Amino acid sequence: MRQLIAGNWKMNGLTESIVEIALMSRTLTTKPAHCDVLICPPATLISHAVQSGAPGVAIGAQDCHPEPSGAFTGDLSAEMLRDCGATAVIVGHSERRQYHGETDALVAAKASAAWRAGLTAIICVGETLLEREAGQAKIICKRQLTGSVPRGATTTNTIIAYEPIWAIGTGKTPTNEEISDMHAHIRICLGSRIRILYGGSVKPSNAREILSLPNVGGALVGGASLNASEFTTIVEFSQPSS
Ligand code: PEP
Repeated sequence: MRQLIAGNWKMNGLTESIVEIALMSRTLTTKPAHCDVLICPPATLISHAVQSGAPGVAIGAQDCHPEPSGAFTGDLSAEMLRDCGATAVIVGHSERRQYHGETDALVAAKASAAWRAGLTAIICVGETLLEREAGQAKIICKRQLTGSVPRGATTTNTIIAYEPIWAIGTGKTPTNEEISDMHAHIRICLGSRIRILYGGSVKPSNAREILSLPNVGGALVGGASLNASEFTTIVEFSQPSS
């Protein structure tokens, strides 16, 4: 299966940032990637990014509400995201779990909403540093997978992102052995070929190694996805199949 390199812009980017997506697309047009490429800008930029037309770069969202519509001020439904051209949505990112108190059950409801709207759900799991140091990382990820991945997950409607919380935005990454070990564990828990992305401080200097590890189906990239040149360098390191 093709790897996926996905960028999560978080709460970064104004209209002028669309140029980065255009630059990514231009690079990928001259040097086609052998992986799928997705950028998840803030919701305010989804329509703009889609309408600007960037061949080779799909556009996704960072969160959705479980309901299709209703009295939920400030929220966006999966149907709305699909309507403005998104093809995928990240759910259960650790920043949502931490700052918005999102539970596994809510994340599962959001993933189901994504499927209902025809979006691919990118479901995030990952342990804290304390949990890793206590030897609980696998138990925590298994529990998150059990609670956050609804029945009916397939290789086309779902992607898992393993993101150790202590590696996000910190410049720290697990060892290759730790990544391989956790991805193998997640593969067993899932019992299917659903793609498993690694996320947490992926950058041009470590992407080649990480993307060549077994069971790594791509990367979810935060900081380094804001810059077209860094992001396309990571894309170049993707492996033809995983
Ligand atoms: C993320 O937020 O999903 C992420 C992986 O961030 P960073 O690459 O900046 O660590």
